[in-house]
Formats: sequence, structure tokens, C-alpha cells
Amino acid sequence: MPLNLSIKTMHGVGDKRQAILGKMGIYTIGDLLYHAPFKYQQLSDARKISECKHGDEVVVHAEVSSKPLLRRMRKGFSIVTFNIFDGNTTGKCVYFNQPYMAKNIYKGSNYIFIGKIDAKQGVIQMQNPTLIKSTDELPPVLCTYKLVKGIGQVAFKNLIKKILAQELGAIEEVFPDTFRKRHNLPEINFTFEHLHFPDSIMNANLAKYRLAFEEMLMFMIALENKKKESISDKAHHYEIDKNLIATFCTSLDFDLTNSQNKVIKEIIDDMQSPAIMSRLLQGDVGSGKTIPASIAMLIAASNKKQSAMMAPTDILASQHFDTISKLLVPFDVEVALLKSMMPLKEKNEVLKDIQSGKIDIIIGTHALIQKSVEYYNLGLVITDEQHRFGVAQRAKISAKGLNPDTLVMSATPVPRTLALILYGDLSISIIDEMPPGRIPVKTRLIKQEKRKDMYKYIKEHLDEGNRAYIVCPLIDESEKLDVRSTYKLYDELSSGIFKDSTIEVLHGQQKNEEKQEIMDKFRSGDIQCVISTTVIEVGLDVPEATFMVVENAERFGLAQLHQLRGRVGRGNTESWCFLVSSSEGQNAQERLSIMTNTNDGFIIAEEDLKLRGPGQFIGTQQSGMMDPRVLSLMGDVKLLSRVKDAIDDLTLDMYKDEKESIKKIALMRYNQKLKNIILN
Ligand code: ADP
Ligand code: MG
Repeated sequence: MPLNLSIKTMHGVGDKRQAILGKMGIYTIGDLLYHAPFKYQQLSDARKISECKHGDEVVVHAEVSSKPLLRRMRKGFSIVTFNIFDGNTTGKCVYFNQPYMAKNIYKGSNYIFIGKIDAKQGVIQMQNPTLIKSTDELPPVLCTYKLVKGIGQVAFKNLIKKILAQELGAIEEVFPDTFRKRHNLPEINFTFEHLHFPDSIMNANLAKYRLAFEEMLMFMIALENKKKESISDKAHHYEIDKNLIATFCTSLDFDLTNSQNKVIKEIIDDMQSPAIMSRLLQGDVGSGKTIPASIAMLIAASNKKQSAMMAPTDILASQHFDTISKLLVPFDVEVALLKSMMPLKEKNEVLKDIQSGKIDIIIGTHALIQKSVEYYNLGLVITDEQHRFGVAQRAKISAKGLNPDTLVMSATPVPRTLALILYGDLSISIIDEMPPGRIPVKTRLIKQEKRKDMYKYIKEHLDEGNRAYIVCPLIDESEKLDVRSTYKLYDELSSGIFKDSTIEVLHGQQKNEEKQEIMDKFRSGDIQCVISTTVIEVGLDVPEATFMVVENAERFGLAQLHQLRGRVGRGNTESWCFLVSSSEGQNAQERLSIMTNTNDGFIIAEEDLKLRGPGQFIGTQQSGMMDPRVLSLMGDVKLLSRVKDAIDDLTLDMYKDEKESIKKIALMRYNQKLKNIILN
């Protein structure tokens, strides 16, 4: 297949150009063809200069009506200016830092100018417009590519032209005709032709749609395949003792929520089935994920299988150990805690008992995956706060058992569509209901003029023993941005309204001991208010903290604001979240008002996905491994559901052969990448 050939095989691509293209992820001829323009402009839609408005992207046919003037500024900056005239009106063109323009453009010649209008100064002005000589043969649609330094639009287009001249008509179509028609997908040769040399914007968009569709479909098929691979028979079966579970549930001093019951049933079904469980349990902080996890471990223990539960921090592991040991007291189950920092003698004892099978449930940190830990018969692996673990760590603990069931828990709501992609081989359970009796955090948007009143209100409550977090986007002041910083706000508050309160700055660049000390003092009440960056997003659990103020709230993602808000409302006092924003923008206000309308993390996550794309939901561990092209499609819920229909179609008998070849291509493109993102 010529599309798989290295671009090096092309005329005009030497080492240097190969390196430049490599920076864009272009290695093969196929990669080059799949590099779609990011912008299309219809050249036939020309405007008169008099019709141009500020901010418009326009095409203007005009004559250069004054001699280009070059001015050189300090530090190598330069500006070229000249007038243009379209027969009625005079406008102006400006080129920044392109001094050669002064030599290449002559008064009296005619051009097509394509670019953005700046009409602020009263004159219609175009800045750095693209130029096409009027005598050149005009394409109906102008394509612009995202490129890197070292290769220009024309050179890039010429490479594509060369390939298409050779290959067009011969590129293999993977989709059957009837399938394409049914799903409105243009043929592949048509697609590449109109992706790069469209005769209309409509066809360009059609081409783009086909490629997006293809990409998503291939990805999903590879994912499906991976899922099937991972469902093999497990080496162990669990008998479910209904009485035991009922006894456990009645031993609790509260009733389970409907959501918890539903999730418990899903887990039981998984454990009963001969397939290995791979389940993701999502639920906001405090929604009660520990109970279903405990039941799963109880089932394993009653079937004489060991369970391991891994938490990201010592504090969390100890907390789980306390809770779970207590919950399981009435049952004949051995629970142990394993941490890295433990007296050696004690640790060796635990290790020995794990190996002999005396211990049923092991709770710990990364210590659980160290070489020295040998399990007797590990049948169930649970990871809490899964997003804080790397993929490799999760895989390591699973490898300790013989195909153990896995349950991963996460408190970061991820929209369903996205979860499907990120955790494609996991079944998903969701607890979307809080235990009754919680006092929901009240959220308010605060305009600048109310800021003083807000701080006054908080001050009164600090005096009564409450505590407050204040989050700023920046640590230090920035010249460029009109944004609050921790230190500046500290100066403002500590010398002003909070001068009788104890307040401290907390941020990620401080030493660990320093951070720990501040947090400890905040917990004990020696500090009443911390002014912080988003470092407090995770970990802190202080029931007396009842105020969360976010300055410049418009600068944060909704999912992030939701996490921040989750830091308060943990005690039995009414809590407040104040989102301070001076941003007048309609969008910013609308976005923030979502926060005041709901406390449901999933709704917020969906909205955030729509508004800001998928980037922020993906941990740094995973984002680098995810294909950016696939990722950019994830926000497109409609496309996703169409692709799912199409995949169902492919199971039809008539597409049997094609399905196989599509699958082959899908695996070729994505198998390696999936290895990296899929858990366990
Ligand atoms: P998370 O989902 O954050 O791990 P936990 O399992 O730690 O939540 O539960 C948070 C708190 O809520 C615990 O104190 C737990 O005992 C309590 N809890 C759990 N389920 C219920 C319920 N159905 N009704 C009342 N309280 C509950
Ligand atoms: Mg928890």
C-alpha cells in the first residue's frame, strides 16, 4: 500500500523536510493525506471594502494603490503598509515582520486579499492577509493548514498535489458502497481530493466528516476487539451467599441509596459470571463507594479468595483500613494494612500472612505492588481514586493475581461518552445520588462590587470558628494578566478586612513540609483561612471549612470548580461556594451559572466537555498517549452515536468480509495506542 510508504520516498522530501514533517506527526504518505486543512475559505464570496466590518474574515479583490512602505522598528520588528483600492473604496494592508513584502508588491498590481478585518482605527485594514495574484488560476476554496516552522502553505500544498496526482483514483476504499450510502460517507478518493482541493465548502466539510467518522469507527472497533480479548474465563468462580450480603447490609446504621443498591447488583452479577470483572465505579466524593467495594471484598473472602485494595496516599489507605475493618467485624474476615513506612517487623509479619493466605483483605498504597509482596490467591483488585495511578501501576497489581476481577473507583465525574473511550474495556457503574441528609453547598456568583460584602460576611463566620479557602489562578502577580494572585490577595486581606484573622498562602511551589504544616494548622484551626492555588483540589478534608471562594472563577474549568467546591460541605454546617468573576462576557457568566444551578458532577462534566473539550478530563498520565485526532472528536456526541450505529451495521452478514478487513486496519492503526491507555 503506497499510503504506508515513508514520506522520504517522495521527490522533494529529504532529511531536513522529513524532520520538519515529523514534528507534525507526519511520517508516511498516508499521514500527509490525512493532515486536513484547519480552515476553508470560499474565494468566490468576495466583498467590497465598504462592506467589510471589524472582525470579519473576508476575501477582497483589489489593486495596490500606494507604494509599499517599510518601517523598521526596535528589536528587529518591521511593518509594511500600503493602500488597496477596489474601484470604490480605499483600505489598508499591514504586514508585521514580513519586510520582504515591501519588495515583492508593486503599486498597480491586482491581488485577492484574504484575511481578518481590523476597523478599529476608522479605516478598513487587513493584517497579514494571504495574497493571491489575480492572474493566477484561482481555486474555488482556499485551504489553510496548521503547519510548523520550516514549511509554508504553498510547499505543503505542493506535496499533497504531487501525491494526489499519482494516487488519486487508486486509493483503496475500505467501506462497502451500500454502507457508505447508508451513512452518508463520500468515497475515499473523492474524500482526499475534496479535503485538499475542494470545489465547494460543502464538499470540503463532507470530506472532513468522512475522515472523522472513519477515525472514530476504527478506534471503536479496535477498542471492541480489545474488550473481547480481555474477557476470558476466569480461573475462579464465586458463589454468592445472599444471606451474607443481606446480613452485611442490615449491619449498617443507614439504608443504602438506590444508586448504591444498583451498583452492588452490577458487581455481584459480574463476580458471579465466568467472565473476569473489569468495572469502573464512578461516584462523587461522599457518594458512598466504599460500601459496594466492601461487599465485593466480602464476597471474595467468603469464596476463600484474597482481595487487595490500593489507595493513592497513606492517609487514604489508613482511613480505608479503619472503615473497612469496622464494617467487617461481624464477619470472619482478616483485614490487614500494608504501607511502605511501617516498622520492619510488623511489615514482615503482614507479608508472611499475605503469602500464607491468612489475610483475606489487604489494604495499602503502592506498597501492594512491590516485588516483596506475594499473594496466596489474589482474586479481586480494587483501586481507589484510579485517576491518580499510572496505567503501569494498575497493571502491576493485577498481574499479581491469576486474572483477578478488578474494580476501579473514581470520584472525578467523567462524561459517559468520554468514559467510553478512556475506559473502553471497562463496564461502568455510577453512583449518582448522595446519601440523604447532606446539606448541599450553596453556590453564588459574586460580581466585583459585591466582593467586599462577601469578605465581610466570611470574616464574621471566621470569628465564629468557621474556616475558609480562597483560590486564585496565580501564585504571583502577572504583568500581562489582570488576574488575582495568592500573594497579592494575601497583602490585600491581611492588611485589610482579615487583619485580625490568621491567614496563610499555600501553593504547589512550596516545600512539602511547609505545605504539610500549613494544612495541619488549618485542620487544627490555628490557621483560619488559606489563600491557595488549585493544590487544594485533592486531599484536604476539613469538616470545619465552610467557605470556598474562587477568584477569577471564569478562568477555571467547570469540572475543576466542582472539585474545588467538593472541599466544603463536609461537616454538618451550611457551606458556601462563592465564584467571584468580573468577566462581563456572556459566555463566562452562562458557564458559571451552571455551577449555581446544579451540584451534580455528571451534569457539570457533560457541560464542560461540550464547552471546553476533553483535554481536562484526561490525567497527564494518559493524555500523552491518546491520539489527539481521536481526542478532538470526543466532544462530538452525535458523531459517536452515529458511529455506534454504523458498527452495529457492520455485524450484518452481508458485510462479513469487509468487517474483517476494516478490523485489520483498525488494529493496525490503534492497537499499539490502546495498549497504552487501557487499564489492566
Ligand atoms: P466515597 O464515595 O467518597 O468513597 P464513602 O464511601 O467514604 O464515600 O462514604 C462517605 C460517607 O458516607 C461515609 O461516612 C459513609 O459511612 C457514609 N455513607 C455511605 N453510604 C451511606 C448511606 N446510604 N446513607 C448514609 N451515609 C452513607
Ligand atoms: Mg472514597
